[in-house]
Amino acid sequence: MLKNILIVGAGFSGAVIAERLSKTKKYNIVVIDKRVHIGGNCHTEIDPETKILVHKYGPHIFNTNNLNVWNYIRTFGKFNNFTNRIKVNSRGSIYSFPINLHTINQFFNVSLSPSEATQLIDKKRDKSIIKARNFEEQALGMIGRDLYEAFIYGYTKKQWGCDPELLPASILKRVPVRFNYNDNYYDKLYQGIPEQGYSKIIENMLDHKSIRVVTDTPFNSSFDTSSFDHVFYTGPIDSFFDYKYGKLGYRTVTFEEERTIGDYQGNAVINYADLDVPYTRIHEHKHFAKKANFGKTIYFKEFSKETEIDDEPYYPKRLKDDKESLEKYQKDIEKKQNFTFLGRLGTYRYMDMELVISEALRISRNFKI
Ligand code: UDP
Repeated sequence: MLKNILIVGAGFSGAVIAERLSKTKKYNIVVIDKRVHIGGNCHTEIDPETKILVHKYGPHIFNTNNLNVWNYIRTFGKFNNFTNRIKVNSRGSIYSFPINLHTINQFFNVSLSPSEATQLIDKKRDKSIIKARNFEEQALGMIGRDLYEAFIYGYTKKQWGCDPELLPASILKRVPVRFNYNDNYYDKLYQGIPEQGYSKIIENMLDHKSIRVVTDTPFNSSFDTSSFDHVFYTGPIDSFFDYKYGKLGYRTVTFEEERTIGDYQGNAVINYADLDVPYTRIHEHKHFAKKANFGKTIYFKEFSKETEIDDEPYYPKRLKDDKESLEKYQKDIEKKQNFTFLGRLGTYRYMDMELVISEALRISRNFKI
């Protein structure tokens, strides 16, 4: 007798669980998603006018050191060899980013070698900070006030909507500082973007006779799960419990879309570090493709704001109050039989795609009913 499985959410977490369980031939699987499309925030679409592959919820560049994950994901579609090299606009000038030897030489108007630049930054950084208690201390202890104020402070305040002193140091650890000319945004072995988009990859993962996908179907506390032997829930924890311990803080992003002919900014992503520019970055999606020879172009100004009830949650803030509520929700989750909470929203953690996939692979490997 086949067991019935419900998966809430057709993003990467849900798709990996569905795909892995479908191969065991032991389950009937239903995947629901409140949106009209699959793919979650990785959803991509070909823009009908320009034929450019658009990342509808902002740029997603797959990057991983995990060969298992890299091999697994590429069985569902070909990846191009896009490498993320971004630029940053600070006080009206364009710099290389993440902070590297080029940025340091541009910013201080010098031509230092790696060891000279290391010495310069060592003089500038705040050596009294041994163990950073927050984001700002982490930055000041690593690069000093000049670089912090030029490249990090404004962007971070716009991105998170609060003073960087209130944020955890871990957020900054995602961005490297280098004393060479390597401007690859990620320190990872494998990187790229699916040539036909993420939604095609996820469509291929869900393409199995034991999987039924139902979009435009929200999950809420009145949803009847009694016919399912197990539920994998990848939506927000607080909404699952009707916000009984309060709303968990998320930042969301909104986009202003513009179109023109030719090439708008000459690069896929340019960040805007200054507080008086209201957006955090501009992404021009044709540069994510292998050949960017489209006649027209489409680009998005990205704005960050607090998540309201109808907004899509993006970045878990994990401030002190959030963590207290989260602990209460986690106690309730432990008591819930036949439910697994997973993914970025289901665990309320910042997770990139590789971590989402590796955790879902592990959960499906250990799943037995
Ligand atoms: N950051 C910054 N300036 C930049 C880019 C990033 O200050 O030009 C900081 C910012 O606080 C951001 C963090 O570094 O939240 C992590 O950056 P990452 O690119 O990992 O952000 P994400 O991919 O989560 O948008």
